Amino acid sequence: MTSIGFIGLGHMGGGMAANLAAKGFAVRAFDLSEEALAKAVAAGCSRAASAADAADDAEAVVTMLPAGKHVREVYESALLEAPRGTLLLDCSTIDVATAKEVAQMATDRGLLAVDAPVSGGITAASAGTLTFMVGGSDEAFARAQPILAAMGKAVIHAGANGAGQAAKVCNNMILGAEMIATCEAFALAEKLGLEADKFFDIASVSSGQSWSLTSYCPMPGVGPETPADRDYQGGFATALMLKDLNLSQEAAASVGADTPMGARARELYQAFADAGNGGLDFSAIIKTLRG
Ligand code: NAD
Repeated sequence: MTSIGFIGLGHMGGGMAANLAAKGFAVRAFDLSEEALAKAVAAGCSRAASAADAADDAEAVVTMLPAGKHVREVYESALLEAPRGTLLLDCSTIDVATAKEVAQMATDRGLLAVDAPVSGGITAASAGTLTFMVGGSDEAFARAQPILAAMGKAVIHAGANGAGQAAKVCNNMILGAEMIATCEAFALAEKLGLEADKFFDIASVSSGQSWSLTSYCPMPGVGPETPADRDYQGGFATALMLKDLNLSQEAAASVGADTPMGARARELYQAFADAGNGGLDFSAIIKTLRG
């Protein structure tokens, strides 16, 4: 039985650790929150007293933490002292630069490291249907693949360390801009007197089709059931979309890339969050556009 340390048992990590335990991995879990830790223990994980304790004797250690500073802190204080050959998988969404730095520090100590951020929210984390985009060496990817496959529906090797985070920020930059464009189109259609469901039927099979339109429609009562039909509760929080757009703009600045749509999407989501909407699903930005 492969032994896994799991650190960060929040909205995402809790479901992911439970899936690993359900698939027969021996999971030693740790979180600063006693409530999160107790849930993981109830789901079949064993309790670790600290991050270092979770990593003790583990063949692999998964981290699912809020941001780069938390990942760096846990790596520096607990994980970099793991025995040579231990595999470190960071599934958090963090900045590309930190992802590369912690992986380099790990490699320098004889550890294997991958950045493996996810697409898919809390529901996919619980259902074990996440998509993992993985940065790391061929050897590290080969060892990470069966562990990630136990928590997801797709595991894709993106390239060297940092490439997983690069894929994540680029993907979510498309998503942020695409969602706003979809919301604008519904708002304009409404003002032009075009019925929302007619516009949906037409754009769904025309060149305006996108995931934001057909799988995550921001207009209530149109298309499949989405957070729009629950007054924008649940789903993917505006605050998390803003976090990812900030990461995309940091990444763009670091390499001198011009991303005007990403930059504008970041500004619009910042204003929406500042107006007290950070907890609403990110498709709720349609409210400001409909007026
Ligand atoms: P969360 O805040 O619910 O969970 C993070 C957990 O980490 C918390 O339980 C917290 O107590 C714990 N933690 C923080 N510092 C710690 C430390 N030093 N040691 C141990 N535990 C520590 O966040 P989440 O929604 O689960 O997101 C986790 C990551 O996944 C983030 O990077 C996020 O951007 C990414 N992500 C989230 C979603 C989503 O829909 N929630 C989707 C895709 C990716």
